[in-house]
Amino acid sequence: MRIVIVGAGIIGAALADRLTRPAPGGGPGARDEVTVVEAREPGAGTSGASYAWLNANDPADPGYHRLRTAALATWRDVAAGFGAPSWYRPVGNTMWAAAEDEKARLSDRVARLAGLGYTVELIGADRLRALEPHVRAPDGALIAHYPGEGYVYGGSAARALVRRARESGAEVVTGRRAVGLTTDGDRVTGVRLDDGRELGADVTVCAAGRHSPALLATAGIALPLVDPAEPGSAAPCLIATTTAADGVLNGLVQAPDLSARPAEDRGLVLEATDLDAGVDESASPELVRTVGAELLARARVLVPGLAADIAEVRRCVRPLPADGYPLVGFQRPGLYTVVTHSGITLGPHLAVPADREIHGEPSPELVPYRPDRQ
Ligand SMILES: Cc1cc2nc3c(=O)[nH]c(=O)nc-3n(C[C@H](O)[C@H](O)[C@H](O)COP(=O)(O)OP(=O)(O)OC[C@H]3O[C@@H](n4cnc5c(N)ncnc54)[C@H](O)[C@@H]3O)c2cc1C
Repeated sequence: MRIVIVGAGIIGAALADRLTRPAPGGGPGARDEVTVVEAREPGAGTSGASYAWLNANDPADPGYHRLRTAALATWRDVAAGFGAPSWYRPVGNTMWAAAEDEKARLSDRVARLAGLGYTVELIGADRLRALEPHVRAPDGALIAHYPGEGYVYGGSAARALVRRARESGAEVVTGRRAVGLTTDGDRVTGVRLDDGRELGADVTVCAAGRHSPALLATAGIALPLVDPAEPGSAAPCLIATTTAADGVLNGLVQAPDLSARPAEDRGLVLEATDLDAGVDESASPELVRTVGAELLARARVLVPGLAADIAEVRRCVRPLPADGYPLVGFQRPGLYTVVTHSGITLGPHLAVPADREIHGEPSPELVPYRPDRQ
């Protein structure tokens, strides 16, 4: 089967890797003729800027929680297939609440997650000191630790997956944008590139993340993603990295006003969703600097004596489905879409049933997540 995947973020990369893995018990080499088209470089989009917390830390929807829990297991398997890759960091997450209402919410969350069989423990200040010696939580905070969570370096993970797919026979076209879907009646037959080339495919996969609506619109197909240009949109966001802060954090730490973890280049990654309000792609450099300064101030409360400075504040757009859940499945004959928030957590796992569906075997696991659901 000829398959063209548009986009080499974590979603497209994981699917390309999956499609080119040797069949169980079979010989080496790809079952399909897979071509990946990437406008920039693998991992250069949202996946390379993501906070990239691997988690199933929301008990609200048990079915979705199960999907995410399965995704954590898939990450373990994928990472094991690469040996012990430096981009996979299953190092645990520590989260706390200080105000009484926040404590009640965290306590309820922990109880519900434990009820679903998720590994979580409430810990005291001594254990926090052992886990994260440089971090300070307020006296009396309620502290939860999730040893099964972690993070990945999203850009490096995507690059490693694409590299392996290429070694297994995929063709990877970088620096070329798919400017349109080609069609024959209702059927999508491939893509047209910005150099005029047309790539024919039995199945075209839209894995273009936040840019998916633009690609799909070329064939009159809609995708319910939150529009980053809408006033008050939840899609635009900022994420900061700091200069070197070696050994300051061991795992992910989530205080009520700041999420922080080690970055790939020895600094920290800092994120605070309350600071995203009012940020859009036209945010002024001054606003971006102000948010960076606030993130650093919060980091210095989290880690007293932190000497690092802000290295970069990056504007991003979350590929955010309108109802928050993944959008996965055939939208037309010959067109399969995989777009989701939490794509770092879910990418490699969604690739497994997506592979089956592309080969004609519907997957019940994906039924709640069809792109045309109302
Ligand atoms: C600040 C932030 C924090 C986040 N935190 C988390 C988290 O903690 N945990 C989690 O699981 N998820 C998190 N997410 C979400 C997660 O990062 C995304 O869901 C995921 O990275 C999406 O991957 P993707 O492959 O779909 O998109 P991308 O990584 O954007 O990849 C899409 C690729 O397609 C390419 N492309 C687009 N259009 C075309 C075209 N027409 N032709 C060719 N190529 C094209 C782009 O260049 C890009 O490389 C976060 C996101 C952000 C922004």
